[in-house]
Amino acid sequence: MSAEPLLEETLIKRSQQKRFTSPLNYKERVFVLTKTTLTYYEFRAEKRLKKGSIDLQRVRCVEMVKNEGGVIPCQNKYPFQVVYDSSTLYVFAPSHESRRIWVQIIKEEIKENSVIVAKFHPQFWLEGVWLCCRHAEKQAPGCEKYNLFGNITRKPLPPIPGKSRRPLPPPPPVHCPDDDDDDDDGGGSVVEEEEEQEVVIALYDFDGPEPHDLTLTKGGEYVILEKCDINWYKARDKYGSVWEEGYIPRNYVTEKQLGNLEQYAWYSKHVNRNKAEELLRREDKEGGFVVRDSSNPGTYTVSLYTKSAGGAAIRHYHIKETEDSPRQFYLAEKHLFTSIPDLIEYHNYNAAGLVARLRYPVGNKERLAPSTAGFSYEKWEINRSELTFMKELGSGQFGVVRLGKWRAQHKVAIKAIREGAMCEDDFIEEAKVMMRLSHPKLVQLYGVCTHQKPIYIVTEFMELGCLLNYIRQRRDTFSPGSLLSICQDVAEGMEHLEAHGFIHRDLAARNCLVNDALVVKVSDFGMARYVLDDHYTSSSGAKFPVKWSPPEVFNFCKYSSKSDVWSFGVLMWEVFTEGKMPFQHNPNHEVVMMVSQGHRLYRPKKATPNIYDIMQLCWHEGVEERPSFFQISILISDALEGDSSSSA
Ligand code: ADP
Repeated sequence: MSAEPLLEETLIKRSQQKRFTSPLNYKERVFVLTKTTLTYYEFRAEKRLKKGSIDLQRVRCVEMVKNEGGVIPCQNKYPFQVVYDSSTLYVFAPSHESRRIWVQIIKEEIKENSVIVAKFHPQFWLEGVWLCCRHAEKQAPGCEKYNLFGNITRKPLPPIPGKSRRPLPPPPPVHCPDDDDDDDDGGGSVVEEEEEQEVVIALYDFDGPEPHDLTLTKGGEYVILEKCDINWYKARDKYGSVWEEGYIPRNYVTEKQLGNLEQYAWYSKHVNRNKAEELLRREDKEGGFVVRDSSNPGTYTVSLYTKSAGGAAIRHYHIKETEDSPRQFYLAEKHLFTSIPDLIEYHNYNAAGLVARLRYPVGNKERLAPSTAGFSYEKWEINRSELTFMKELGSGQFGVVRLGKWRAQHKVAIKAIREGAMCEDDFIEEAKVMMRLSHPKLVQLYGVCTHQKPIYIVTEFMELGCLLNYIRQRRDTFSPGSLLSICQDVAEGMEHLEAHGFIHRDLAARNCLVNDALVVKVSDFGMARYVLDDHYTSSSGAKFPVKWSPPEVFNFCKYSSKSDVWSFGVLMWEVFTEGKMPFQHNPNHEVVMMVSQGHRLYRPKKATPNIYDIMQLCWHEGVEERPSFFQISILISDALEGDSSSSA
């Protein structure tokens, strides 16, 4: 410490830059006043971390804050303000006396300052307004005459009531690694506590269906109050009233952060090269473009559509980075930018080496709001009177599936469980776990109706139905790239299940569904465990999926993520044969023999040797030799990128 402390006390500081009265914005800090600075520290793990410091020479006013009966959302009820440069720091003292002393002594220390204000605001700046004069401009001149000398006494400094002046612990030599925010020791500068709250931007509208939910408006900013689980956050509207807080789905927001591209309309994270081309062609606009993740993680590609060269053409440009620091981004050599948004903005107006200007972001309109993990936080039981039934979609092992609506608004698929078809109690218990499995490539379970028979399972509606029928009906219309892209969707969904230790047990094209954005999702995961039908559950039963099963499953019912990998290989085969039945001419018992002897499915005509290699990896007899879904996703991405690299 450079100077002897004049005062030291634990006070509460209101975060600056914030417009709200949330308790989260009030932090306990140890305030230390010396003859030159007012510094505040956080105590964490026995260490004192400097969070901010104000050079007293820059202080223009220190005074109590008149609160006029307003609610103070922290336990210290005696606010005072320190105005410096164009900012105001609000500090809350535990008692009237403590506040009087802090104000008095800081006034003493700043009395020679040349920057003292003539007028000040005696009340808070709150919710975008000065409460004293109702002025909505933060820099509006004060509305009351300021008297710097009003309370100054020339008496020696009194001790702080109820607090002994502790000797200061030595300052920590270095900060905690995670505290790289706002500090320096450079005397003289004003260092402010950094925004500690997490602000997110809504990617989609969300009509909070329950009173405890918060409605989101696309593009709006929200402050995260609590991360309740992996799917739901508690948040508050950044500019709305203090009462506007509630639960929001995590996948509807993205962090407001420099460098986070998700907040931009032109960025489509989950679009691969094939899908980008499909979207650009469908939109058919000169200068249509998409910025997407390259197959090389952490790098990006601009896919651009032009009709100026006679026919339509698509070009893919990698966004390149300079090697020297600070790194810069470019598409065409001579035009360097410090950020990708700056680069996109520039090429919006200048082709500068590209085949066209980046005129129309494509894909964002298609960006349909994703499914939420249930309709609301911790809600799995759905009120059956809120469901209406529409046409029949199909029927399966458990019963009839119908299209329906929840609260007359959200399209859903409703499976009515046939009496005696399911081990219901076990399923209902597991449904809570399954609802938490939320991923763009998994058919979302929204909830269940269990209070009456038949029980209903309510899931995401997939317009184009089951994958097997989808590929059979469109046979000969698929490019190898789009077949691979189907496999990629499934691999991504499975990667999520694998990462959560969840085994599907019946992965096959018939158990995947397709929506109208042509996204393929994995369905019915884990459901095989609840089937009450010996033909299906016994490995010698007629309905047992022998042709999709590895030896350890048809011999010993030994399921694992690696047995799912085997099934995935068979699913790839179904996709590349555009819907053929595996081992078409062999009954199950023969397949058991053949596979046990090392026989495998043949290479489909549409599968290149590369693609067939992936299938064969999945069919390793040794469980450990099979790749994980994580590895399969990478292999498929590489194959996809190779497949269309000719158009770059
Ligand atoms: P089960 O699990 O009882 O065997 P399935 O899940 O196979 O039943 O569903 C039977 C059929 O109903 C599917 O083949 C498909 O055509 C249709 N279906 C099931 N779920 C959906 C859904 N979420 N969206 C659209 N169609 C669906």
